[in-house]
Amino acid sequence: MRSHLLNRTTAEDYRHSVSAGVDQVADRLTSVTGPFSGTDVEALTPVVGSVDLDRPLGDTAAALDELSEVYLRDAVYFHHPRYLAHLNCPVVIPALVGEAVLSAVNSSLDTWDQSAGGTLIERRLIDWTAGRIGLGPAADGVFTSGGTQSNLQALLLAREEAKLRPEEFGRLRILTSECSHFSVSKSAKLLGLSPGSVVPVPVDREKRMRTAALAAALEQCEAEGAVPMAVVATAGTTDFGSIDPLPEIAALCDRYATWMHVDAAYGCGLLASRTRRELLDGIERADSVTVDYHKSFFQPVSSSAVLVRDRATLRHATYHAEYLNPERAVEERIPNQVDKSLQTTRRFDALKLWMTLRIMGADGIGELFDEVCELASEGWRLLAADPRYDVVVEPRLSTLVFRYVPAGVAAAADIDRANLYARKALAASGEAVVAGTKVDGRQYLKFTLLNPETTTADLRTVLDLIAGHSEQYLGDSLDRAS
Ligand SMILES: *Cc1c(COP(=O)(O)O)cnc(C)c1O
Repeated sequence: MRSHLLNRTTAEDYRHSVSAGVDQVADRLTSVTGPFSGTDVEALTPVVGSVDLDRPLGDTAAALDELSEVYLRDAVYFHHPRYLAHLNCPVVIPALVGEAVLSAVNSSLDTWDQSAGGTLIERRLIDWTAGRIGLGPAADGVFTSGGTQSNLQALLLAREEAKLRPEEFGRLRILTSECSHFSVSKSAKLLGLSPGSVVPVPVDREKRMRTAALAAALEQCEAEGAVPMAVVATAGTTDFGSIDPLPEIAALCDRYATWMHVDAAYGCGLLASRTRRELLDGIERADSVTVDYHKSFFQPVSSSAVLVRDRATLRHATYHAEYLNPERAVEERIPNQVDKSLQTTRRFDALKLWMTLRIMGADGIGELFDEVCELASEGWRLLAADPRYDVVVEPRLSTLVFRYVPAGVAAAADIDRANLYARKALAASGEAVVAGTKVDGRQYLKFTLLNPETTTADLRTVLDLIAGHSEQYLGDSLDRAS
């Protein structure tokens, strides 16, 4: 079994084994005809369940053949142009090179003595990102596992900066738009805030936080003796890609001395765009920012970071352990990242972004993101001109929320069901995968466009397929009714 350990005697096996895995994926990429096989839980559960985990195959080729059946055949392929569902991106090859290197070397980015150059590379990328945001000379941050963790850490810092004793946490409030990400509420719970602590601020027709409503909510906090510990602005809401009015929100945060967090998990791709960067104007006034490179920077999961304006605030995540990061190391000025992180052992995800910037450059990423934003605009024109569809807002980024509405027909509940049915039928056909969401209590469908290979013709085709499935559902239900 020692022969399975990576070391100087197994380097050849490593080379062959990993390239056999790469071959499997590459073969799959050239042969899949849709984003999904169309399988379901009932069909796939016994396939995975029948594998006897206590009887190893002992052989890479055999295990890869088996993997083909239990995973690769039925995986959901984000690189396919008709995967239009969630905020998952096709990944860039330079990042995959980074991924292969980082997992083999297996650096852990907690301390210098486990990562050396890795620590410095991560710091360069934090500085690079903070520079693109414009956070100023005292900025810092750390890579995280994702936007959820970045939001949690930012709100932890905000809670500590509010300087209340734990028994007063019930007074703390987080103000955020009703379209913000659910991880804000989850964080509030983890941070020991009270159930009503997250105050949803109404949005305008474009799904952006209404600043007048935010001002009113801040005033209300003051009147009630509550403490607004943070305003969470979203730069790219998950459903609509809407960007809250950052400069106005920053001004209100200044006035009320409230921490401003910008959740740019989705919109961060604009930091690399040469033509759309101004959509993020105002982000430079944030106290903290969440970026998900694994969304709009085309990086493999996971790759995310939390950035802060004032590096001193990161001390709220610092604990010293004699075995790992003793205070002595701080005095010796040995750099480490664990003092800034909620994690201890931590992946060197930064290497993927590093390889991406060194091979493609930021402009290369920005161009890919620009392309999907343009595609979304074309999709909006298609939908707005199509009498079969109702589309909610003109996209700023790359999502489209819409629903099929048959001419003349049907109770609202039937339209809801027809759209739900169409989504399922489409996935079961394997021809496309789209998402669903609710708007004002009604069922809608969603395209999240992150694949520059997707064309307007793809969108047109998928809209026809959705209309076909919806009509079939409504036809069938009319038959049942008569
Ligand atoms: C995706 C998303 C998150 C959560 O990020 P994960 O990387 O999935 O944890 C947070 N906020 C917004 C706006 C998002 O779109």
